[in-house]
Amino acid sequence: MPGRRSRRHRGRRGPVSGPTPAAVRELAVRARQLADDLDAAYAAAAVAGGPTEDAAVGLVAAADQARLLAVTVEHAADRLVRVRVTAADPGACGVVEGVCPEHGATLSTSAGRSWCTAPGCGRTWGYDRLSTPCPDRVTHEVTDLAGATTRMCGAHARDAAQTIDGARVVPLADGPQMEDD
Ligand SMILES: [Zn+2]
Ligand SMILES: [Zn+2]
Repeated sequence: MPGRRSRRHRGRRGPVSGPTPAAVRELAVRARQLADDLDAAYAAAAVAGGPTEDAAVGLVAAADQARLLAVTVEHAADRLVRVRVTAADPGACGVVEGVCPEHGATLSTSAGRSWCTAPGCGRTWGYDRLSTPCPDRVTHEVTDLAGATTRMCGAHARDAAQTIDGARVVPLADGPQMEDD
């Protein structure tokens, strides 16, 4: 469903903590190694044949599950890379809940892919753009009624103007290189 609007993370600058993508990839390597070990155990049982092979048949399904596990962990590592790259880039928008650059809050996402649902758009992304900090360039400054300002890309600024009461949206005069505070 497009238009999930419950999660907004705007205080995104600063050091990124948590596991590194490399550490998470290492877990995926271990899952693939486990799959190989399960295959080898079943192969040895198959050589023995008879009741031994029958008893070990569950290892085949377990190996498949371990390979799926590895893919899931690899996707998590890819998402960690995107989070870190955006957090380290002062010119990136960084609002979580990605948008179509042209159409705004129109994205759907499934199985690690995202696409714009606006008729005729056709934009797709090979990652879960909806729940990844927005990598697009900041071009606008949005000020809410309390006076808090956030720099955003054009699509997020348009969305904020429509969804935040009393939001003031101003194009950045000095371009996207300006630092937060
Ligand atoms: Zn679109
Ligand atoms: Zn954005």
